[in-house]
Amino acid sequence: MKSTFEDAQKRLTNVFRYFELTDDVREKLKHPKLCLSVSIPVRMDDGRLKVFTGYRVQFDNTRGPTKGGIRYHPDVSLDEVISLSFWMTIKCAVMNLPFGGAKGGIVVNPKSLSRLELERLSRNYIREIADVIGPKRDIPAPDVYTNATIMGWMADEYANIKRQQLPGVITGKPVHLNGSLGRESATGRGALHVLQEWVNRKKLNPQQRTLAVQGFGNAGYHFARLAHDEGFKVVAVSDSKGAIFSEEGLEPGKVMDHKQEHKDLKSMMYCDGSVCDLQRYKKISSEEMLELDVDVLVLAALENQIHKGNAGQVKAKLILEIANGPVTSEADAILAGNGVSVLPDVLVNAGGVTVSYFEWVQNRAGLYWEEETVNDRLRKKMGKEANTIFDLVEEKSISLRTAAYLQGVKRIAGAISETGTREYFQEG
Ligand code: NAD
Repeated sequence: MKSTFEDAQKRLTNVFRYFELTDDVREKLKHPKLCLSVSIPVRMDDGRLKVFTGYRVQFDNTRGPTKGGIRYHPDVSLDEVISLSFWMTIKCAVMNLPFGGAKGGIVVNPKSLSRLELERLSRNYIREIADVIGPKRDIPAPDVYTNATIMGWMADEYANIKRQQLPGVITGKPVHLNGSLGRESATGRGALHVLQEWVNRKKLNPQQRTLAVQGFGNAGYHFARLAHDEGFKVVAVSDSKGAIFSEEGLEPGKVMDHKQEHKDLKSMMYCDGSVCDLQRYKKISSEEMLELDVDVLVLAALENQIHKGNAGQVKAKLILEIANGPVTSEADAILAGNGVSVLPDVLVNAGGVTVSYFEWVQNRAGLYWEEETVNDRLRKKMGKEANTIFDLVEEKSISLRTAAYLQGVKRIAGAISETGTREYFQEG
């Protein structure tokens, strides 16, 4: 099987063509700083002891403490976590946040656990990685199949271990446990800001522009809901069980209400329902959804969804990457050849880490902001960094992805060379 990390690294090759990097920077960006693999023993409800595998990877901390979410999924692997930590490093630099990149994950199908098993697993994971995280060291957050409740358990466990309240150790916490207002919808909201900036740049009318959204979880749902409110027409949405389509457009709020009615899983933390349960919409396969003739294809599920096998069938003229790494480097080349623009993950989904940064700032200051302030600061930050990248695209005639990487790598390279000792060695 191909390594996702090797594929992720290929993006740097394009950047090196436009920017002279020192060998120090190239060398540093090839290697994660720390890869921790842990065995997590959990007492199951029936009395058995089960051991789960978990990871925490810190890729680079030159620009600040490392930051990145925790994923619960049966397909989590070290290769995937390293790739995600690499993208977090680039993303924090693209957004000019004072963080490096990290990521964590547990190999588990969380839907098969009871609520108490899930809590024990989450708390035990924090016990295993407690020595390498901290508000000034490495700050986790939610990712696929983790949420505010799980972050709350984790922050509480960390406080138990350290015997002091340190809410800045984790972001994406419940608002009652020092979380930030606006964090829940931040990733979807940030993605919409980037799309709107692009639409404005290209002087397109958002009204009735059609969207198909793959992945109807935290990021995809809030994006679809907010985009619908702004006049975009969401014609298809999908989740892990399949996709639905309506030429007249769907109402994302109603689709979510229906999906949530089916909360009959053991843990009650995840809903068993699917968008496909809605009888009044046409069901299509997940593959068909990716090939719909829409204005914008929105990818908000998992990595490697558009690859060399299906890139040629994409009819949308714009892809919005809300998921991390949903388009492979081989697919990038095919899409570019077919005139499909890709608004890249390291910019598009950065709303989540930006409001996580706001949460960390609020936790450290002990001063909490109104939701309006959070949303306003997010809009300004997304607009500023998106337009810097759009300017670079025009100035250098490069792809949106290359421009975003160029911007991020320049900031990382600046930090690495300011801390390095290379010049002294050369002088000697
Ligand atoms: P989530 O667990 O809330 O939702 C994931 C959704 O994807 C679910 O609806 C699931 O059914 C669906 N899905 C899974 N496999 C699928 C498939 N093959 N086809 C279609 N749908 C599928 O996760 P999330 O937090 O929304 O994260 C989604 C993506 O966004 C991930 O790549 C994540 O890394 C990225 N992301 C999330 C955040 C955040 O703040 N939540 C921030 C940045 C990036």
